[in-house]
Amino acid sequence: MVFLNLCDIGEIRALLSRHGFHFSKSLGQNFLRDPRIPQAIAENAGIDEQTGVLEVGPGIGALTQQLCRRARRVAAVELDRRLPPVLAETLAEFNNLTVTEGDILKIDIPALCRQELGPEPWVACANLPYYITTPALSALIESRCFGSVTVMVQKEVAQRICAGAGTAEYGAFSVYCQYHGAPRIVLSVPAGCFVPAPKVDSAVVRLDLYPPGQNPLGPVDEALFFRVVKAAFGQRRKMLSNCLRQGFPQLEKEQILDCLAAADLPEKVRGERLDLAQFACLTEEVGKRI
Ligand code: SAM
Repeated sequence: MVFLNLCDIGEIRALLSRHGFHFSKSLGQNFLRDPRIPQAIAENAGIDEQTGVLEVGPGIGALTQQLCRRARRVAAVELDRRLPPVLAETLAEFNNLTVTEGDILKIDIPALCRQELGPEPWVACANLPYYITTPALSALIESRCFGSVTVMVQKEVAQRICAGAGTAEYGAFSVYCQYHGAPRIVLSVPAGCFVPAPKVDSAVVRLDLYPPGQNPLGPVDEALFFRVVKAAFGQRRKMLSNCLRQGFPQLEKEQILDCLAAADLPEKVRGERLDLAQFACLTEEVGKRI
């Protein structure tokens, strides 16, 4: 059997030209060309020989190869139907891999994992196509089947996911991710590590997801929590009290000020200053008044 070096630029070009493949910008196709990166991603993804891994967008298999070497099973979902035949060649050595042609935003993720990965534990790992970073990451989180999600995203997005209250990067997506788990940046990846090179640098974020019922915030009305967060970040420059008036028109101004006081928040505070525990407390106060 011939083993291909999937990060060697000469081999990548020869392989792709053999398959008549041209990169699709609209599918976010920037393939890894630095062998240290797929290895480091796989090492940081919390995988051992018991783990089933869902990968989004295997491309020609540079990361997939590293996942297959470490995991019990790997299920890869690829939208571009030109790539499964390439993968059949590049990953022929592995018998613990299935490739499903499909769109990660449309697929039933828990059903696919049950079918292709067998028993839990499962993790998700991907060099995400950047045009769907937010919906793809949300779909992985909301499938509620993974212990962790380790993804390459644009550096700025990684910083937003991990940002703390009161920083310029902190926003509704930071709160969303941190509500569901504990994120950290595990790797910085310069644009030159990809072919073709994107215009921006990237970073790998690992999000360790809280198991059901183990959110450190305790019991929270989740739907109301995210309504409050959405309202709070709706108009960044406005005071939280004004944002809440917009988001909850059924509440009088006095009631909103009561909510802030009961949650121990200053009357003129802005939403971006609140950490998750303060949002949870505010949610409880809003819940008592609507
Ligand atoms: N994993 C490879 C690597 O690291 O070299 C390729 C990563 S490339 C950034 C993103 C991959 O996702 C491409 O192979 C692309 O065709 C695929 N893709 C794009 N949109 C997708 C979608 N909606 N569902 C599944 N895969 C998708």
